[in-house]
Parts: sequence; structure tokens; C-alpha cells
Amino acid sequence: MTSLDLIALDGPSGAGKSSAAKLIAEALGWAYLDTGAMFRATALAILRAGASLDDEASLRAVLDRLDLGQQGTRVFLDGEDVSEAIRTPEITKFVTPVSQDPRVRKVLLEQQRAVGSKGGFVVDGRDIGTVVFPDAGLKVFLTASVEARARRRFLEQQAKGITMSLEEVAADIARRDHADSTRAEAPLRRADDAVELDSSGLNLDEVVDRIVALWKSRKA
Ligand code: C5P
Repeated sequence: MTSLDLIALDGPSGAGKSSAAKLIAEALGWAYLDTGAMFRATALAILRAGASLDDEASLRAVLDRLDLGQQGTRVFLDGEDVSEAIRTPEITKFVTPVSQDPRVRKVLLEQQRAVGSKGGFVVDGRDIGTVVFPDAGLKVFLTASVEARARRRFLEQQAKGITMSLEEVAADIARRDHADSTRAEAPLRRADDAVELDSSGLNLDEVVDRIVALWKSRKA
């Protein structure tokens, strides 16, 4: 079996995947690909175009000219930095049906493989180890209790000036867990050969250190 120099980091919303992925990439001198950001930017593109998942022609027009980019932690749509615009509650809601759509998933799968298939990437998402890069050299399934994830997301949202109560954040996380793990297309699930890591009782540095150590031990 071939093994790609790539770490697939999957798990439910709010488990700390993107914060960890950035730091793991830095530690290894690799790049980082946030596939959730790609789904979010696609949701934004559909809204901005006034297109709809129910109108094939309008969706096709958006997908055929979908111009996404990432540089470090910044996310671009048609060359415009949309890093903040894709994190609003409106996009967080709309990204669920968008990410369930097989037409969207097909286009993004191709783009994700085109970017990551040379290796040297930490890729975070929901289906990276199962569908996008099944030959990743290391697959990690990062989990945490709903309470721990809600608390983290709540603090992040507060820092960004988004006012949602802890209960609302927890309800949103539970809604996304359910939608992500029960959808027909590429549902959230741990790959059989993924290492499961529960981050509830760990801080970010501990999560990063463990994953970097796992990678180094695989390569030793
Ligand atoms: O990771 P983040 O929460 O930003 O992802 C936004 C949404 O995109 C998730 O709620 C999930 O439904 C979807 N997603 C996905 N497959 C991925 C990454 C994200 O379906 N690989």
C-alpha cells in the first residue's frame, strides 16, 4: 500500500481540528488545508450568486467557476479574502445542506485532491481519512465531549464578537454532529485505521505534541 506524506485530521465540529492542524503543519514545515473552509466558501459563493441547490442550472454555474484559495489561514473566494465572511452564523447554517449535496462534494473532492496529493499537508475535515485521502500516512480522529467542544466554540465566538449563548452553541454543535454523521454522502466516521484522540482533557499544545509524535514514530 502506498502511503502519502499527509496527515488526515477528521472529527466533529469544535474538537479543535483547525487550531491543531495549523500548529502541526508549522511543526512539520508543511502546509495546512482546511476543507471545512472550502465548504463554507462554496456556501458563500452560492448565496452571493443568488443561486440555489434546488436550481440545477444556477448551482452548476457557481460550481463551474468556483475559484477557491487558501494561504496560511486565510481563505479566498474569487481572489477576495473571505476568512471572516465564511464564519457567520448564516453560513454555519447554510453549509450543512451545501455539504450534503453530492454535486458540491464531487467538485470539492477534485479540488482537495489536486491540492494535497503531492503530500506535505495537514488536511482537516470530516471525510479526509475515509474518502479524500485514504492513503494518508497518518489518520487521526479527534473527538471531545459535546460540553468541551461547546465551551471552546463559545469562547472563540465571543472573541470574534459573535453573541450566541453557550446553550445555542451546544445546540448548534449537536445539530451539526447529527447532520454530518447521518448524511448519505461521505458521512463523518472514523476510518478503520485512524488513531482516535479525545481532546476533552488536553490543551492545544498537548494535542499537537501527540500528533507530531505519532507522525514521527510512523516515519522512524
Ligand atoms: O470544519 P467546519 O466546521 O468549518 O466545516 C463546515 C461544515 O462543512 C461542517 O459542518 C461539515 O458539514 C462540512 N464539512 C464536510 N466535509 C469536510 C469538511 C467540512 O462535510 N471534509
